[in-house]
Amino acid sequence: MATEEQGYKIPEAFLEAFGSTFGQQEADAFCRSVNQPSPVSIRVNPYKLNTPPIGGKIVPWCSLGYYLDTRPTFGIDPLWHAGAYYVQEASSMFVSQYLSELSDDTKIALDLCAAPGGKSTLLRSLLPKTCVLIANEPDRGRVSALHENLTRFGSDEVIVTNAYPNELRKSGLMCDIILVDAPCSGEGMFRKDPNSRNEWSMGSVASCSIKQKEILDEAWRMLHQGGILIYSTCTYNKEENEAQLEYLSEHYDVAKIIFPDLKTPEAMGISKGERDGVYRFFPHHTVGEGFTIFALQKAGKKQKVSQEQRNRKRETQNSQIPSILKDSIREQVNITNEGDEFVYLSPQGKVIADLLIKARVRVLSKGIILGSVKGKDFVPHHSWAMSNMIADQAPYPHIEVDEDTALAYLKRDTINLAPHKGFECITYKGVPLGWVKNIGNRVNNLYPKELVIRNRNAVSEELPKLF
Ligand code: SAM
Repeated sequence: MATEEQGYKIPEAFLEAFGSTFGQQEADAFCRSVNQPSPVSIRVNPYKLNTPPIGGKIVPWCSLGYYLDTRPTFGIDPLWHAGAYYVQEASSMFVSQYLSELSDDTKIALDLCAAPGGKSTLLRSLLPKTCVLIANEPDRGRVSALHENLTRFGSDEVIVTNAYPNELRKSGLMCDIILVDAPCSGEGMFRKDPNSRNEWSMGSVASCSIKQKEILDEAWRMLHQGGILIYSTCTYNKEENEAQLEYLSEHYDVAKIIFPDLKTPEAMGISKGERDGVYRFFPHHTVGEGFTIFALQKAGKKQKVSQEQRNRKRETQNSQIPSILKDSIREQVNITNEGDEFVYLSPQGKVIADLLIKARVRVLSKGIILGSVKGKDFVPHHSWAMSNMIADQAPYPHIEVDEDTALAYLKRDTINLAPHKGFECITYKGVPLGWVKNIGNRVNNLYPKELVIRNRNAVSEELPKLF
């Protein structure tokens, strides 16, 4: 709990502005709530788990979200490392409300401000399987966490990029759905991250509001006719929210505001904003952090799949594909090689990746790396074990391990398995953790060095028993 005595004071100017917008009573209730502990919630990965967490209470606006009574040390839970769930504050999960009715012709989605990946992983869980998701983050320091989180979650049909919105736009990329979870003044984080109170100023509201408009200008230009733009911030003020909706409506051809198919948001403590279609989450009304969101549809008719994309679908099989991949993977057309590495990505995903690379956009990853040929072996890559779509097509035995072995594996320690020869997939509670190479008298642990459990000391703590 953060207090004034600890130096975490809610800025006077913020309280004044908040009071004059929403009323003094609301400001008082807000102040009381931000000095309470934050609620804890997780969102399950529907491709990896189909059970709710033990004791979890459903987040009313997201069928994959659950509140927990306590905050366990998630970083020592093998299931967290396996991407079976994502720790995400509940209000943000409201994005799911705009995804439930997407048609199968939603081909390309863009998460423009994506790190560390909370909403990208949510999008990937709910977008049609064949829709390509471009998860973009311009900040070099933050993009690796995005990449890591998406890999854990099973990065099927995902392209991770590190670019500013104008760089993406210049590539000619056009999307059916774009999420702008904009950089903002962070008011909604006053409880969860008390330091954000010290970083807030009226000046940052004003400068964020200008930056958000610039991002929206670019996003709108990358949106297909008939496409959907979802905009959110973790703030309450109108400059960063309602004013952005007004800006878009005044400057661009908006077909309509999209209303989530939720009968009674008020009963869930969700407040309606000053403009129709704006939803606001206050910590004193909802069980979640501060958040505001709206979605718009661009005017015009939806376009058909381009000729180039259709041609790609008829692409011939790559003759260099190793026989192990030829024998195990059904969608051969999705396999290509890049140097030693074999990658799984749909023809449509390849078209998009090529487009971005040609425009010199920094692409961190595209699709699933299946593995590479090393000498006589085909060595499977970690992202194949994590993959939602084709993990089950990997031609290697699954070896279920107990808690201690799972932790030893995630620390890259030596583990003992029954003698056998070849690559094996280690699973915990049925969910893949990664590969080993069993050479009979010894097991080579292939868990990636960069993902090793960082908090080694915490491993002596009791493991979260969530599933
Ligand atoms: N969507 C993320 C999630 O759910 O995990 C959180 C995104 S955070 C609110 C905003 C992100 O926007 C930050 O990672 C920040 O680095 C990024 N950002 C900053 N300036 C940007 C810009 N000009 N264009 C796009 N993104 C930007």
